[in-house]
Amino acid sequence: MSPTRLALTMALAENVGILDDVETIAPGIAAETELLRVHTRGYIDAVAKASAAGEPAILPGPEFDHGLGSDDNPIFAGMHEAGSVIAGGTMAAARAIADGVATRAVNIGGGMHHAMSDYASGFCVYNDAAVAISWLLDRGYERIAYIDVDVHHGDGVQAAFQDDPRVMTVSIHQHPATLWPNTGWAAEIGKGAAEGTIVNIPLLPGTEDALWLRAFHGVVPSVLRAFKPQIIVSQCGVDTHKEDPLADLSLTVEGQVGAFRAMRDLADELCEGRWLAVGGGGYGVIRVVPRSWTHLLATALDRDLDPTTPIPEKWKQTVHESVPGIELPDTFGDGGSAYYAPWDGPGGAPDTGDPRHDRAVERVDGAILAVRRSVFPTLGLDPDDVRD
Ligand SMILES: [Zn+2]
Repeated sequence: MSPTRLALTMALAENVGILDDVETIAPGIAAETELLRVHTRGYIDAVAKASAAGEPAILPGPEFDHGLGSDDNPIFAGMHEAGSVIAGGTMAAARAIADGVATRAVNIGGGMHHAMSDYASGFCVYNDAAVAISWLLDRGYERIAYIDVDVHHGDGVQAAFQDDPRVMTVSIHQHPATLWPNTGWAAEIGKGAAEGTIVNIPLLPGTEDALWLRAFHGVVPSVLRAFKPQIIVSQCGVDTHKEDPLADLSLTVEGQVGAFRAMRDLADELCEGRWLAVGGGGYGVIRVVPRSWTHLLATALDRDLDPTTPIPEKWKQTVHESVPGIELPDTFGDGGSAYYAPWDGPGGAPDTGDPRHDRAVERVDGAILAVRRSVFPTLGLDPDDVRD
């Protein structure tokens, strides 16, 4: 979660001109009352206490607990303030949209989707997206869709709203049998009044752009159209990339941009454009994240960037000053593609003459159908009908 990736992204976006004439808003610090929307008093106090103590020489005792001091969630001086600024950024973005100052807003520092009500998890301290969604509900939004394209399951946001029928959480991620946090199965669809407002699309390791996008489009537009959100909140983690060291999906930057544009299109179609995008995971800190999130900023600004655009020399020099010798990409793309063949119903077994490819299509189609059969009936949709 190196903050370097945020600085490198902003530098790259500025160098390529994406941010010309764009107003950036200082995030501010989320108030404790805002954090309390989704976190317990005991947890916030523990974070604040650990934060003030700084890096402990001895592992913390039970007075800390709450997931703090683990390998994934080490204690560091200022962690309460850092988490509060991240939440403050996503709150500022939410406020800008709710106040009508902007239709779309992005906080690339946000997306701490694993943080739970009472404990830190997966590098995430405060769940900025959940805080902002809770606030938007109080501002009068009655139906909010959260779409999470990070390679990991968006478990913290799902848990925060699992009993709330006003929030639909959709997560497309690497299969829980193969990746932490080992949740996000197709059968998790919510209970009681909130049944059908949890959607999980698990994909096997190795899934590439075209099949990832086939799965996204085979499920997400349908469930969103049925739910009719007034705003979309997107978690745009880019650890789905084939170079990412922590996970095993095989997307390129082009595939990731296909997802960003699809979410923008859905916000335009269903929410009068209202789209709040946050960052998330992404551990290709230098070669991947800055390019992908520059595309995200470009997408939000309708300044779509051609992936063949050369990476500015100025940015390369900046990187090489701190990391000499690292091989940098020459363009904003990887030579991938956002083209995909749409899901074409159950039993449409492919026969392309390439058995490996056909097997991959069959597996992803199996995943698509499992999700549709789990959740579509509760939304009044026909899981087997390609028109739904
Ligand atoms: Zn992740």
